[in-house]
Amino acid sequence: MSDLELDTLTIIKYPDPRLRKACDPVTVFDDNLRALATRMVELMNQAEGIGLAAPQVGILSQMFVCGVIGKPDEWMAFVNPTLADLDGPMEAAEEGCLSIPDVNVTIRRAVSCRIDALDLDGNPIAYTASDLIARCWQHECDHLQGRLIVDRMSPADQVANRRALKRLESRFRG
Ligand code: ZN
Repeated sequence: MSDLELDTLTIIKYPDPRLRKACDPVTVFDDNLRALATRMVELMNQAEGIGLAAPQVGILSQMFVCGVIGKPDEWMAFVNPTLADLDGPMEAAEEGCLSIPDVNVTIRRAVSCRIDALDLDGNPIAYTASDLIARCWQHECDHLQGRLIVDRMSPADQVANRRALKRLESRFRG
């Protein structure tokens, strides 16, 4: 991908069908992949998010970046990730998504989990985290399977988010 193409990447919004695709594993670890991750971090920081998955910029590859609010230089990329140790305590908390602005959904997730992935050079990495970071990993790994927070709405969430979702749908069609 050229610099020019990277510059034109933006965060795509629900109900763009690309957000519904299962992503392909990354097989090439090169400057293009690093440039893509760097551009995704830029977009994530601009939008004040803590995670962004490649399908959210229209690239159907198994990669996501994860950051820290207020610390734009502290970020990590996870390539071809898999989660484990999800069978401990669960906790419900409200989540948003940069691709679904103004929508918040209460989601039960594992409080802690382990992630196995590759870094941007193709080297294996493994970490364990809890709370917000563990939640972020689970949310982003959902994206790589085409799963969104709107798939997990309770009846109350459906009512609360109906207008915001309708607005996004008509903006996408328009
Ligand atoms: Zn999201």
